[in-house]
Amino acid sequence: MRALPRANTRPELALRSALHRLGLRFRVEQQLLAGSRRRADIVFRRSRVVCFVHGCFWHGCSTHMKWPARNSLFWREKIKRNRLKDEDTLARLSKEGWRVVVCWEHDDAKVVAQRIALLVRGQTRH
Ligand SMILES: [Zn+2]
Repeated sequence: MRALPRANTRPELALRSALHRLGLRFRVEQQLLAGSRRRADIVFRRSRVVCFVHGCFWHGCSTHMKWPARNSLFWREKIKRNRLKDEDTLARLSKEGWRVVVCWEHDDAKVVAQRIALLVRGQTRH
């Protein structure tokens, strides 16, 4: 079991390269909220669009979650806290005018990249 969620996971890299192929430029691993250590995975500062790629395990994907047999109470609490933190982060970012895209590691990177491109290029409001 990994001890901590890692940056630069495979799904993040897949999404980044799909975005690059669409000609988009962005920053990665940015802290956007004062007093929060939470980093946004992909950030488009000028258009104020931010994207999080949620790992199925760390964020408790309802389709792929496999609870570890050992320390299961610990993991349930831990993932529950992660999800609450996610909600809080998203709410705060929205309040500060960011448009937030949350995708899962199981999502098709190309489809997500298209969605982000529409937002960044201002062809849709939400
Ligand atoms: Zn999943």
